[in-house]
Amino acid sequence: MSNYIKLLPDSVANQIAAGEVIQRPASAVKELLENAVDAGAKEVELIIKDAGKTTIQVIDNGCGMSAMDARMCFERHATSKISSADDLFAIRTMGFRGEALASIAAIAQVEMKTRPAEDEIGTCLQIEGSKVISQEPCQCSSGTNLIIKNLFFNVPARRNFLKSNTAETRHIIEEFIRVAVIQPSVAFSMIHNDKVVFKLPKGGLKSRIVGLFGTNYNEKLLPVEQRTEILTIKGFIGKPEYARKTRGEQYFFVNKRFIKHPYLHHAVNNAFAELIPVDSFPSYFLNIDIDPKEIDINIHPTKTEINFRDAKYVYAVMQAAVKQSIGKYSLTPTIDFEIDPAIELALGNLPKEGLKQPKIHFDPDYNPFKQERSEGFRSEIPIKKEKQDWKEFYQHHLPEEKNTRETEESEKAHDTGLDLIHEKERLKFFQIQNTFITSNVRSGLMVIDQHKAHERILYEYYFKKLKDASHGSQQMLFPQNIRLSPGDAEIVRELKSDLLKLGYMLDSVGKNGFVINGIPADLQENDSVVVLERIIENHKKHLKDINYDKSVNLARSMAVNLAVKTGTRLQEKEMAEIFDSLFACHAPETALDGSRTLAIIPLNDIEHYLKEKKK
Ligand code: ADP
Ligand code: MG
Repeated sequence: MSNYIKLLPDSVANQIAAGEVIQRPASAVKELLENAVDAGAKEVELIIKDAGKTTIQVIDNGCGMSAMDARMCFERHATSKISSADDLFAIRTMGFRGEALASIAAIAQVEMKTRPAEDEIGTCLQIEGSKVISQEPCQCSSGTNLIIKNLFFNVPARRNFLKSNTAETRHIIEEFIRVAVIQPSVAFSMIHNDKVVFKLPKGGLKSRIVGLFGTNYNEKLLPVEQRTEILTIKGFIGKPEYARKTRGEQYFFVNKRFIKHPYLHHAVNNAFAELIPVDSFPSYFLNIDIDPKEIDINIHPTKTEINFRDAKYVYAVMQAAVKQSIGKYSLTPTIDFEIDPAIELALGNLPKEGLKQPKIHFDPDYNPFKQERSEGFRSEIPIKKEKQDWKEFYQHHLPEEKNTRETEESEKAHDTGLDLIHEKERLKFFQIQNTFITSNVRSGLMVIDQHKAHERILYEYYFKKLKDASHGSQQMLFPQNIRLSPGDAEIVRELKSDLLKLGYMLDSVGKNGFVINGIPADLQENDSVVVLERIIENHKKHLKDINYDKSVNLARSMAVNLAVKTGTRLQEKEMAEIFDSLFACHAPETALDGSRTLAIIPLNDIEHYLKEKKK
């Protein structure tokens, strides 16, 4: 039998290998941009035509190549980045396989001009389907200028598989972003069919994100920074209120290499869990700087997975970093109150312990149609007293000169004859439809959803209680008995210490029974059993969630069950309580379901509306 195994000619082998590395124009763009960054370029320009199908050009001012290297770089496994297997664990460059240029040269017409800064004369090389057409000295700028023409010219099948220009351009832009966003110290530009798509000067990470994703990102971002002995996480996350319905801008990098990592993604999501709706996604741009020894980088060029030696550790640091960033920034109020800046400061500085639970006592006998009652209500709480309460609450935060400013202001008002809102009337609250609390703030009219706001307040209040050791409860006048199924009784036993922190004092009687001796301070005795049952139900419902956190869940149950309902009439004092307590919360603007607790109707809009001629 004759031998029938033959070695493939290099050109064919290269073409087959190229199919793995270069699948579409965007893959070539990625490889060229990464080479430019690896070459230490400070300026990189990407020029494409017809979604990269006819031309992809990358011009950089990096280290350039000698005549010899210019020829070598198109050989398979030719790389300057590693020389032994050990080097694989010390890689900080993007490339290291020495496959990209060989692959590109196998399936396209390539022209490269390159010159190291120290050489006077550069090299111009043309290569097509792995064959060198010409190589000669030439005049050129220092750095490398590489043009790829007619990608897949000799692999028509693959060319036919390319998608529409719009789709291929989208892929290219995505690759461009993945390289450019994390290299803000390098200026990047992208031109498509002679139109500038991006022009990104060098700067910081924030301005790079803004440059790529739009100026509205300026106010959307929160910085993240966390250092440990093993790694440093740095970057930005989107504020919870800007979370999106689609997986938008989610970028992880490890040593500035873009990666996808569902496990770490989960860590970030977890940190956001309480602040965004279930079906929306936070944005993030986070780089993990880590010793290459701690990761397995030997991934396929087109893939983006990476393995950490200790993924659990990275997960924990990531989650803590993001949580910290959210916590730190949601403490600073972003709303400009129509009050003294000193008070604003006090709001921001309120110690955590200052979180007090508002007591909502509504009058069940109230009849809104009874005229004299509603009038009585107004005189019942004189405005003067209102101010006193407010002052008492912030007394130790108010600076001395407060009074002078107050008189100055009223004098000014008097001077101009303007009806300036006087201090005592500034924090006046009105209720709309027994649902919303309104108050005027510097920039307009603030509208607070009473139910959502109270839920947020109670949630934080109970969450803190669960974390604290202390507990408080009110003795039941008539202790209640409750019988439960064996499963539910088991849950109550398991939650007993947490329930005690919430205020539930329970003692077992018989096999699956309990006697309720004490209940949370703000619970009506009549509701004690129902609320306990709901807590058990809610606990069961969420037990299987991977994100399950017992305290979060219990605090949520309490908040949902006890928050003042929509449609409940509130007294002005109660509204003030909600207002005060809300702004002492960590995340005053975020409702428990991730939506907003409040809105501000800007003064401008009101003015604009009133200026319009009636039709
Ligand atoms: P890798 O990046 O994996 O080393 P490539 O095929 O992408 O493999 O490139 C091969 C080599 O060519 C690189 O190791 C580098 O030395 C050189 N090279 C490629 N592009 C550039 C460039 N823009 N500037 C300077 N040198 C380059
Ligand atoms: Mg490379």
